[in-house]
Amino acid sequence: MTETVSAEGAARRRYDAIIVGGGWAGSVLAKRLGAQGWQVLVLEAGNGGTETWPGYLDSLSTFYSAVAKVPNAAYRPNKAAPSPNVLDLAPVPNPQPGEPEFTAHGYFVQNGQLPYGTDYLRELGGAAMHWLGAVPRMLPDDFATRSTYSYGLDWPLTAEDLQPWYAEAEAELGVAGHAQEQKELGVVTDPAYEYPMHHIPQSYIDQYCDHRLGDAVIDDTVAQLPYTLRTFGLPQARNSTPNPAYRPRTASRAPSACPTTASAVWATPAASPSVPSRPNPIRCASRPPGRPPSPWPPGAWSAASGPPRPAP
Ligand SMILES: Cc1cc2nc3c(=O)[nH]c(=O)nc-3n(C[C@H](O)[C@H](O)[C@H](O)COP(=O)(O)OP(=O)(O)OC[C@H]3O[C@@H](n4cnc5c(N)ncnc54)[C@H](O)[C@@H]3O)c2cc1C
Repeated sequence: MTETVSAEGAARRRYDAIIVGGGWAGSVLAKRLGAQGWQVLVLEAGNGGTETWPGYLDSLSTFYSAVAKVPNAAYRPNKAAPSPNVLDLAPVPNPQPGEPEFTAHGYFVQNGQLPYGTDYLRELGGAAMHWLGAVPRMLPDDFATRSTYSYGLDWPLTAEDLQPWYAEAEAELGVAGHAQEQKELGVVTDPAYEYPMHHIPQSYIDQYCDHRLGDAVIDDTVAQLPYTLRTFGLPQARNSTPNPAYRPRTASRAPSACPTTASAVWATPAASPSVPSRPNPIRCASRPPGRPPSPWPPGAWSAASGPPRPAP
């Protein structure tokens, strides 16, 4: 069963595992442990609730009223759980050589010449609440920069080794992508692989760039080699339409649906005075402790057909 408890309520119970942080990493971990019947407590520093309708409307109005539309603009500042913000940075006019080019008077103490110029979010869901949804796999070259380009280190893994794990992450996210294109790039190494969702159709500007850049030849003046440009779509963690050809091909053979068996409890602190309280999310259907495991055979259904019905 997935529920939200107060700190006092959580302190009175016993848990098999306590996870600090309800971002992606913590959430997926909680899902996996909950699916095995563990009692899991997820401690989250930030607020939740943007998945609810009132919380969603609140984040919309917060975003609309923000002067600068930056990644954190939809979330109210929370003094109990502050986050770094790109607006913490200000350029130094006419910096002298060797002196910092930015000032950064925010959450991060940054004294280097080039500060860390992005942010993250302390909110239930973490940085995934405002990420861009771009989910490219690494290119084969990325695993072998030493042997290919004589810098860095070669990984002890190849794209092929990671195929089932990428597939598992893509099932979790419901990625929309063009498998054939990604196979041509060499990043999808399983010839039978399909993404859970059809690729997002090209926008007008995508088509224009494709038209102007695709097959253009450029000269690399350093390597003194001509290169032919090719454009590829970027797999996206955004809903398109389910791909009926998709079959889960994941590493651990876990069901790719919202966790039907998660047994996790969210505990969030009392909201700071700067943040109105929102109902916290109950994120997925869940299995009360002690019930038998899910009847769904792991990995046995397609996005088109939905999960099979258990035998009556
Ligand atoms: C603007 C932006 C765009 C991005 N776009 C992409 C993209 O297109 N593609 C991509 O692959 N990645 C992208 N990323 C990166 C991606 O979003 C992150 O790598 C990912 O969300 C990190 O997940 P996580 O669970 O490891 O950590 P987080 O999401 O940071 O989760 C950590 C959680 O822990 C909580 N927490 C922190 N401290 C405490 C504490 N002391 N006690 C309790 N809870 C605590 C936080 O509130 C948060 O919920 C982007 C990131 C940003 C900032």
